[in-house]
Amino acid sequence: MPPKRQSTDTPGNASKKSKPAASNTDEPVIPRGKRWSKVSGSANADDGYRLQISKPEAYAYLCLCKPLHDRGESEDVWDEEDDEDEDEETADKEKQPACDYGETCVCLKPAAEHPEHPWVITRAATHKLNTLRIMGSLRDPDGFGMYTYNDHFGYGLVELAQNLILDFEEAKGDWKAVGRGDADPLFQVDDGEGVAALINTLGIMFLTMLSTLEREGLLKPDSEVKSVGVVMAAFIRLIAADIGPDFGIEGDGLDKKLLAYAKKQNIELKGLSDIESELEEPRAEAEEIVIPAADANNGDPWAWQKALADYKKQYGPTIGGDKLDITTWTSAERKKASFDKKDPLNKKMIDAIKEGLIMQPA
Ligand SMILES: [Zn+2]
Repeated sequence: MPPKRQSTDTPGNASKKSKPAASNTDEPVIPRGKRWSKVSGSANADDGYRLQISKPEAYAYLCLCKPLHDRGESEDVWDEEDDEDEDEETADKEKQPACDYGETCVCLKPAAEHPEHPWVITRAATHKLNTLRIMGSLRDPDGFGMYTYNDHFGYGLVELAQNLILDFEEAKGDWKAVGRGDADPLFQVDDGEGVAALINTLGIMFLTMLSTLEREGLLKPDSEVKSVGVVMAAFIRLIAADIGPDFGIEGDGLDKKLLAYAKKQNIELKGLSDIESELEEPRAEAEEIVIPAADANNGDPWAWQKALADYKKQYGPTIGGDKLDITTWTSAERKKASFDKKDPLNKKMIDAIKEGLIMQPA
């Protein structure tokens, strides 16, 4: 199918306005990161995302009617779940009203209007999920009518997760940048080579983020970072129930460390009741874990810098970027891999990408 313009929640279709050269004086000029190619749909999407999160309203909390792991099947943006468990869950689901993405359910309503509602996400996180979805589609040869090699898409997701690491690195401890928008999408990554090392690195990144929040006094029950208990729980679910020892990350005990953090700071972990039996052992082992102090004398308690250096040494030195984004390829490269030997992007589309248009395959 040919690529088309995206029509998501990004106002005004986010075409040229997200490009610095568009010189729209109402909007801040956000310099493009060095990791991107000159012509790159990913870079355009990232520009659009960073423009969105430069606005104060990006950090408002919105409700989700159900937790992220239980969204059911749909193509919608906050719906990340594979539907393989659908049958087992049907009985449960019938008891709950259906999610209609905010028509009648509570999705995307301001959390401030529903203070008791447990499932919240920042607007920035919804933008990040959208952006990752777009970036993922640009790394999927099928969507372009192309065959490149097996696992192109899987490697593409790894590239996206590596970009999250670069985002974290660039944020340099800015808790607003690291603590609110970026954690949820980690759970989308489930494929590709080196995924265990990647998830370990992301896990240390997440622990480092928690220590940053702790140092700022924001890791506590009534924290203004309202989604922390939801995101921690999602990470625990990912490791304890969804990934587990098959990926070789059990030894690092990330789930246990998160449980220990939650206990230490009295954080309510939301949405784990269905896997409580799988958490018995990690909970018991979490009792033994001493969370390193996050104070001025210990700026890197989880040895993030070493973890990052090790990861880059093994999988880098360059990580992330947009090499697997098909819009960054030359026309000749795309033609060669295309089923009909034509470039799936015509001149108009290529020009639009050059101008900053955010696009994705249909
Ligand atoms: Zn809903």
